[in-house]
Order: sequence, then structure tokens, then C-alpha cells
Amino acid sequence: MQQQQATISVRLTSGRRALRHGRLSRLVFVLAFIMILLSAVSLAYVGNIASREADAQATEKQRQLLDNVLVGRMQLMSRDLYSIVHWDDAVTGLVKKFDHDFVTDQLIYWLDLNLQAQKTYIISANGRVFADIINSQAQFSRRSLPDQDPLMHLSRQAVDRFMALRVPVEEGFGLKTISLSQVNELAATAVMSVDGQPSLVTAMVVTPDDQESLPSRFDPIIVVAAKTLDSALLAELNQTLSFQNFTFEQPGEKDPTRTMQMVAGPDGKPIGQFVWRGSQPGTAVWSVVMPVILAVCGLMTVITAFAAHRIGNLSSKLEESEEHNRFLALHDNLTGLSNRFHFHEALDRHISSLPQNQFAVLACDLDRFKAVNDTYGHAAGDAVIRAVANRIAATVGTAGMVGRVGGDEFVILLNGFTDIPRLQILCRQIIASVCEPIMLDNGVMTSVGVSLGVALAPASGSTNTHLMASADAALYAAKEQGRGRAVFAHELASAKNETATPEKDDSAHRAA
Ligand code: GH3
Ligand code: MG
Repeated sequence: MQQQQATISVRLTSGRRALRHGRLSRLVFVLAFIMILLSAVSLAYVGNIASREADAQATEKQRQLLDNVLVGRMQLMSRDLYSIVHWDDAVTGLVKKFDHDFVTDQLIYWLDLNLQAQKTYIISANGRVFADIINSQAQFSRRSLPDQDPLMHLSRQAVDRFMALRVPVEEGFGLKTISLSQVNELAATAVMSVDGQPSLVTAMVVTPDDQESLPSRFDPIIVVAAKTLDSALLAELNQTLSFQNFTFEQPGEKDPTRTMQMVAGPDGKPIGQFVWRGSQPGTAVWSVVMPVILAVCGLMTVITAFAAHRIGNLSSKLEESEEHNRFLALHDNLTGLSNRFHFHEALDRHISSLPQNQFAVLACDLDRFKAVNDTYGHAAGDAVIRAVANRIAATVGTAGMVGRVGGDEFVILLNGFTDIPRLQILCRQIIASVCEPIMLDNGVMTSVGVSLGVALAPASGSTNTHLMASADAALYAAKEQGRGRAVFAHELASAKNETATPEKDDSAHRAA
């Protein structure tokens, strides 16, 4: 029974151990998983910032590229215009006398040949339009531009630039000699709305290139050329840019899926926006970062699971060995019963609960055990001790605790019941079970007897020493009276009183 109990208790302990092992592993795993999750989140955060930064930088570069392309295209227009308006004939035909024939026969020809602008205006510095040349057709309207007209704004800029570069010559002014790369210092350029159409525009004062001069009494004449930002011009610009879905639209709502570059005219008013699908190198960052995050997290999870499993195993092994050591410290090696230390610990605990919880101590010593040793050897003696231990433990069952405190000495702390009749029955059962024949390993049958000394607490003692001494004295008496019997310490004391022998310490009677 005690062995069964031991097995059950081992099973329970191993169950608890497995539970604790599982809990520890889970705890390690959960903590590590939180760390992994934090790492993944911070990696994703860094990836997100990197991706956004990459997108922002790419957008900024694209905007700069667009600006450069626009500036470059308008410089090209200015150079083409310069080759037409920096010309003695133009001074003669446009400034000194406005000659319709010069416009229709020569100017339009050269404009078409060099510039291919859809619209060209010939304007005086005071805002008078001498000619509108629309798609190679000249109209001589002689209308005046309102002062706030963007064309006026650009014309004034062109005049200012000319004034900065003009030089006095005989009978008036000429233009300082400039290189082609300096033409943009003379031209006024803008992306602006011309007759409601967004256009690239360049404006330049008509200047002499050889013999002619600009008389100081004449107003400067400005030629303004506008190229409409139509699909052809956009396609031309996009040859350098290679933007996706590159268009020009009216100012509108922001669209996060597209990149926009607002354009304001010379008067600062927005006239529209270039729009295209921006490149998103950020997504490339993700395609690099994501697999790294997944790989790192996966690897860390595997390592963590392995480590958690190992930690759990180690801790349960440690606990197992600690439990084993604890068992060895409290139990007898040969029988697995409680040892002397464990028994006395339990006895002290029970004594502290006196007088409420009464109990009995039974000292047992095998009868003529030495003969087994002498006849069959020490190993056979050990087998007998083990068999007897099992029988006593089985007989006592849950009514008490059995310990082995010496070679063939056992003690029982009985707390299940303390009434004399039941104690007597138990003693008889113990004696009967011990006396049963025992089969040794070699098949030989042997047998031993047992004598018992019973001390009731607190009747026969209320201290550890006193109780043990009473039980030992009763045991000694049982041996004296012929062995194979149980003697109660209180009967022994009353018998002594009857013979009027002065009371002595029971312990004095314990024979070695
Ligand atoms: P009694 O009836 O008076 O009790 O005599 P006994 O033959 O039982 O001998 P006693 O109780 O005086 O001594 C017990 C003997 O048990 C002494 C020793 O040789 C033997 N012994 C002590 N420990 C062990 C042990 O662990 N194994 C074996 N096999 N024998 C032991
Ligand atoms: Mg003995």
C-alpha cells in the first residue's frame, strides 16, 4: 500500500513537474516572443521610415528634374527666338517702322522654321499689341494689354533685362555682345496661361545685330513666343523625364498616388500642375526589409522555442534531482520508509498539537532476526527487512506513518485512532503479518517475529524523549515476556505501581 502510495505520489509529482516545466517553457517563450515582436515592430518602423524617406527623396529629385527640363526647354526657345529678334532687319521692320509685310513674309517664316510656337505676340513696352501670330497667321489688331495681363508682366521683365544689357552706340543703343549661353539673361521666360492655355513662354526685346541701332526715342518692341503645353510638348519633355502618366492638369485635389508639381504664372497665380505617377523606391525597401524581418523573426522564434524547451527540461531535471535528494534525506535507503530524522520531525509536529490531537507511538523490533543473517547471509537479512517493512506499512495503511530507525527496529506514529481495543487489534494484525513466512531469493522459506511496545500520547509521555522512552520500555517488556507480543506502556506503569516499586524513568528499561 505504502509502495502504491509512493508510486501515486511520484506520478503526481511528475505531473506537477510537467505542468511547471510547461509553464516555465511557455513563460520563456512568451517573454522571448514579446521581444521578437518588439524587434519586428521596430524593424518595420525603421523600414517604414526608410521607405518614406526614399519615396520623398525620389519625388524631390523628380521635381528638380522637371524644373531643370522646363528651364532647359525655355532656354532653347529663348535661343531660337534670339536668332530671330537679334537682327538688324527686325529692328528695321518692327521697331523703326512696323512693317506688316516684314511680319508676314519674313518673321513668320523664321518663327516657323526655328521656333514652331503656336502663338507669337509683338508688343510694345507700353502694352500695345502690334500683331498676334496664331498658328502662322498674323492679325494686326493694335489692341492694348491690360496692365495686369501676365503677358505685360513678362514683357516688362524682358525690357528690364534688355536695359541691363544694352550699350550706347551711334544714334541710340545696341546690345552688349553676349554668348549663346547668356541668352537667358536677356530673355524673360515663364510657364503661364496664354489665352487660357498653359504654355511655355519666352519674351525678348528686338535688338540689332550689326549696323542698326535702337533710337532712344522709340519704345522697345518685345516678341513673345508661346508654346502650348499640349500632348506633343509634354511627350517631348517626357523624353528626358520618362515619368509615368505625365500630364498637365488644372489645379485640383491632392492625390497621394500621384506626384504633383504646381505651376504659378509670373503674377504668382497658380495656372495648373504637372502630374505623374511617381517612382516609389520605398516599395523596393520593403521588398528587402520584409524578407529580412520574416527571416530574423522566424529564426529567433525557432531558437527561442528550442531554448525554452531546453530551459524547461533542465529545470525539471534540476527539480527532479532536488526532489530525489530531499527523498533520500528523509527516507531509509533499504525500505523507502521514513528515516529516523523524518520520523522525529513528524513526532515533534504531533506533540505540538497535543492534547487536542492524541496519537500513539509503536516501537517494533524483529524477534531473532540475527539468526536470519547468520543462517542465510546479510543480503537475505536485507530482503527480510524489506518484506517486513512492506507488510507493516500495508497493515498500518493510512492510519499512521511507519519509519525504520535501526537495523531491525521500526516505529509507527499512529494518528488514525487511539482507542485501546483497536490498537490491540492492529498490534495483532502487525504481528500476524510479520510472522507470515518469507520466501528468500533462493526459494528458501524463512520467518521472523516481532515484538511491540505501545506508548499513548499524552498518557505515556508528552515529550519526544519521554514518549520514545515509554515505547522502548514497553518493547523491552514484550521481549522479556517471551516476544511476539505487544505491551502497552501505561499497563507496564500500573503493574509497577501495583508492586509498589518506586516509579523510575521508563527509558532506563530499554535494553541494548
Ligand atoms: P532480539 O530478538 O532480541 O531482537 O534479537 P535479534 O536477533 O533480533 O537481534 P537484535 O535485535 O539485538 O539485533 C539486530 C540485528 O540486526 C543486529 C545486526 O546484525 C542486524 N542488522 C542491523 N542492521 C542490519 C541491516 O541493515 N541488514 C541486515 N541484514 N542486518 C542488520
Ligand atoms: Mg531484534
